[in-house]
Amino acid sequence: MTEARFAEKTTPYLLELAERSDAVRKMYVYDPAHEDIPADIERDLLSEKANTAVPGGVRKFDGRLLVLLSYTCGANCRYCERQDRVGVGLDRLGRLGTAQIDTIVDYVKQDGELHDIIASGGDPLINPKGLEYLFTSLAEVEHVKVMRIHTRFPVQSPGQVNLDLMRKLATLRPTMYLSLHISHPDELTPEVEDLIAQFRAMGYLLICQSVFLKGVNDDVEVLYRLYTRLFQLGVRPYYLYHCQRIPTTARFEMDLRDEVAIMSRLRERLDGLAFPQHVIDMPAARGKVLVPTNHWDFDLGHVTDFDGLTLSTETWKARED
Ligand code: SF4
Repeated sequence: MTEARFAEKTTPYLLELAERSDAVRKMYVYDPAHEDIPADIERDLLSEKANTAVPGGVRKFDGRLLVLLSYTCGANCRYCERQDRVGVGLDRLGRLGTAQIDTIVDYVKQDGELHDIIASGGDPLINPKGLEYLFTSLAEVEHVKVMRIHTRFPVQSPGQVNLDLMRKLATLRPTMYLSLHISHPDELTPEVEDLIAQFRAMGYLLICQSVFLKGVNDDVEVLYRLYTRLFQLGVRPYYLYHCQRIPTTARFEMDLRDEVAIMSRLRERLDGLAFPQHVIDMPAARGKVLVPTNHWDFDLGHVTDFDGLTLSTETWKARED
């Protein structure tokens, strides 16, 4: 049942890389022993449907609009927190077309507070026509100052990235960020490093988002190598997420205290510019809350979201005390 719901999907490039990398294999290969979950799994894990301001556009924070351009990806990551959407379920094979994008652009035009537009999904590079149409349209909107592409496609199929499109988008008026999702140094192959060099030459500001994954990158040396190399390549590590607790990700979820111990060691060794923000994007709450390092003596048993809701970190439910 689960396989059909969130099918194994890889690329020839990833299959070849997985033969050399245990970490890559774990991130993509379907394992029925760990994914036998009920069909009625809770939907909308990141409260994106609840915060949909316009079809395909999610507004959770002031000034920003997340545009879910495509509900499919180049490959399906087994730890995906959007697997209630990606390629399955409520938005099966959906991708935004011209008419829906026009509605989103009109929405942005009417709200002068929206200055930061984030193209996401799924993966926005799976909908290149939609991405081009969205960003060229929004580039005409004066109050849009920043546009971001958040993608994992370059590390899933580097040979298939549409470089002509990337080059064109990089020249648009708003400041262009490219956020690459990379969680292990094995993903930084010569092909990917060459792509990163090309993105830099195009003029993108490059950032990276990662996820803490048990059995994949729960190791100081692994993360030290990842972030040092990204820093050297001109990619600023941005967020390192605590893996969301959903049934299929249980095997990847780490104890928060182990994550803090690793981050504390990394803080002592990495260049400041190479050190990401360790955050929890809390289910059923609002905000990516920063996790402290062991250099401070904090209570890790509860956390308060951006609306003042206090949650237990054991259950991620509202705390009653
Ligand atoms: S690329 Fe992102 S959205 Fe797509 S399956 Fe992987 S984690 Fe999920």
